[in-house]
Amino acid sequence: MNPRRRHVIARLSALGLPTLLGAALTLPQMARAAAPLAGSQQVSVHRLKLGKFEVTTLLDGFIDVPIGVLQGEAAHIREHLEAVGQKMDAPMRFPVNAFLVNTGSKLVLIDAGGANMLGPTAGRLPAALAALGLNPGQIDEVYITHMHGDHLHGTVSPDGSRLFPNAVIRIAQADLDYWANPKVEAAAPENQKGRFAAAKRAVAAYGDRIKGFALGQELSPGIKSVSAVGHTPGHSCYMVESEGQKLLLLGDLMHVAAVQFPRPEITVAFDWKQDEARASRKALFEQVARERIMVGGAHLAFPGIGRLRAAGNGYAYDPILWQLF
Ligand SMILES: [Zn+2]
Repeated sequence: MNPRRRHVIARLSALGLPTLLGAALTLPQMARAAAPLAGSQQVSVHRLKLGKFEVTTLLDGFIDVPIGVLQGEAAHIREHLEAVGQKMDAPMRFPVNAFLVNTGSKLVLIDAGGANMLGPTAGRLPAALAALGLNPGQIDEVYITHMHGDHLHGTVSPDGSRLFPNAVIRIAQADLDYWANPKVEAAAPENQKGRFAAAKRAVAAYGDRIKGFALGQELSPGIKSVSAVGHTPGHSCYMVESEGQKLLLLGDLMHVAAVQFPRPEITVAFDWKQDEARASRKALFEQVARERIMVGGAHLAFPGIGRLRAAGNGYAYDPILWQLF
């Protein structure tokens, strides 16, 4: 065979396109033993370049949540869930993402997943950090969107010590005043008291390394709190901006993409104040769609980053495409 033809066949074979002429070259490869099944999921990390920053999504895992938490027009809830194949007698799967911002001068983790407190389907953030070649001691600051367990428990090791021994934890003062307040906990209904556990563990582990802030404050050059009160009293989104590129990390501004993008008026039962949660979501969705600002969601399908555009009664969500850099 002449060298040119051999080259063409080799190229086609490499692309998985055997030709009649190439068949003789590819057949011996087909006789190889199959690769063993991995038998477990891979650690999931995804990097986005945002101006001079790198923003990495770390998948902590998932939690399953009953459909009944959705509050709103039942026909709309059913219509949008069925459209994505959700069975009405099965729970909804909430991915749990955290985001690591490398500003070039420090590492800021935004939310921390659920550690060992949410069962075996979450708590993979330390493995995701390790996959990046990082150890928890390198994290400089942790910004929490709100003090629910799937965002805050991950700051604390299973033995109750600080997972991020050198980090300062930043939480909106309004959330601290609620979740880290024994009087509020004492006044809460008995079936709600478990929701204060994450705050108690974090305060015990970090003490005065937890520092409050006023909603709307810039916490670090290029990372600013954006008030999104309603899901909790001090729920904060974070605007990450470098060289004019913007990413709004949503925290729990929304939970169920299939329902709350097309119908932002639908709330969840664990919103602290439904009306305020709805108003915050509507205002910020309107802004990010109008200004074409990227969003990153704690409970959006990994890697949880995309853009909104106005559609129908609400918005459609376009996930970002993978970047090469
Ligand atoms: Zn959450």
